[in-house]
Amino acid sequence: MDALSALRQRLAAIADLNGAIATLAWDQETYMPPGGAEARGRQLALLGRMAHEQFTDPQVGRWLEQIERDGGTFAAGSLEADLLRVVRHDYQRATRVPAEFVAAMMEHSSAAYDRWTRARPANAFAMVADSLERTLELSHQYAGYTPGVAHPADALIGESDEGMTVAQIRPLFAELRAGLVPLIEAIGARPAPDTTFLTRHYPAAAQLAVGMECAVAFGYDPQRGRQDLTHHPFATRLNHGDVRITTRVREDDFSEAFFSTLHEAGHAMYEQGVAAELEGTPLASGTSAGVHESQSRLWENIVGRSRGFAEHIVPRLRTAFPQQFADVTPDIFYRAVNRVSRSLIRTDADEVTYNLHVIIRFDLELELLEGRLAVRDLPEAWRERYRRDLGVVPPDDRDGVLQDVHWFAGLIGGAFQGYTLGNIMSAQFYRAACAAHPDIPEAITRGEFATLHGWLQRMVYAHGRRLDADAVVRHATGGPLTIAPYLAYLDAKYRALYQC
Ligand code: ZN
Repeated sequence: MDALSALRQRLAAIADLNGAIATLAWDQETYMPPGGAEARGRQLALLGRMAHEQFTDPQVGRWLEQIERDGGTFAAGSLEADLLRVVRHDYQRATRVPAEFVAAMMEHSSAAYDRWTRARPANAFAMVADSLERTLELSHQYAGYTPGVAHPADALIGESDEGMTVAQIRPLFAELRAGLVPLIEAIGARPAPDTTFLTRHYPAAAQLAVGMECAVAFGYDPQRGRQDLTHHPFATRLNHGDVRITTRVREDDFSEAFFSTLHEAGHAMYEQGVAAELEGTPLASGTSAGVHESQSRLWENIVGRSRGFAEHIVPRLRTAFPQQFADVTPDIFYRAVNRVSRSLIRTDADEVTYNLHVIIRFDLELELLEGRLAVRDLPEAWRERYRRDLGVVPPDDRDGVLQDVHWFAGLIGGAFQGYTLGNIMSAQFYRAACAAHPDIPEAITRGEFATLHGWLQRMVYAHGRRLDADAVVRHATGGPLTIAPYLAYLDAKYRALYQC
């Protein structure tokens, strides 16, 4: 067997191991009784180790060398060339960090996470300060293993948003913040819309049915997916023919399940849309955290919270919930689901303020890594930024610096920027789709989504990891990532909504 075939066979086996891991993890988050936790943790660790060993095996490096030696020059843009580029990249990344460091990091992370689970309810930042210092050291050490990074955060940003760097993101976020702070101030001076109908009683089964109906109308293929209940909603790819979504229902809050279903359907349609020929290779997945988030946000916010969609969905919701929606017009619905409020908690934030929560975390990460901010001063720096940017101050660390798990279960850097990069990209993709098909907004008011879904399928989904984030943005929109469409979208939508 030639080297390329041998390599592909190995990659296919690793993809199957990863599919088995995803299946066990999905079960753990949906149906597994608590008693199964210990054995499941062991099984997942074992399969994870096997997949890692199969991939970091020196034989993989020898196959790659041999393909190069045999004059394995494949035409640029061919499937083989893309595959080899991505496998070489992943292989280098997986093998350059010493195993002892990985072991030390994992041991530290699980201890740090354990401390955080106790520190947050106790509202005691002091309990995690030491371990956070250590996390910061490890983050620097990790960056040291990545050649050619200009900023220590670049090593970690590259893990989730390959090709993006602090140098690119910082000015983009500064521009976004400069646009958002005055917009949020102006909105805050206006009366808030009435949202009381959203918290009437909505039976769970009817909520799940209507959410799934919308996901399918958008383009989610139920023959290759399903929906189940969980605590923290997610979408997961088990394989090309099986991409699942999960949701959480509250009978006293219509928004919770409905919009998280549209969000996860966006992630899942991306995975379902990856070309079948990429199955069994590392190319068969969404290309970066930011591009993935752009697909969930596009369907959840740009489509799901649009005036046109309200026109289409409110009559349908009135059939599903005749009493609860009796007095709800498309206009009332549109205003209520786009309510902006300055909150302390990132995960509860609306479309506009969400980005400030992300930018605050991103900036603080950089200050920590650059040595401009000491860990002990972090809680105060957090409060100060919330006061300045959002005009609210957390009364304690529980709803302040301790609210997110990210810094307490992994390294510092790279964990947050993807959310806002996704928002920025979502508007750029949508603008390009509408430029190609000006009838898209009108079609949405009729509940027709095939043109938009088809455009995304061709321009974004199908390529999987063959195009990285920068390349897929250029391919789909004809230019590099830019903030202008997103700022224009927010400004036009919310200044009209709030008449400010
Ligand atoms: Zn998401």
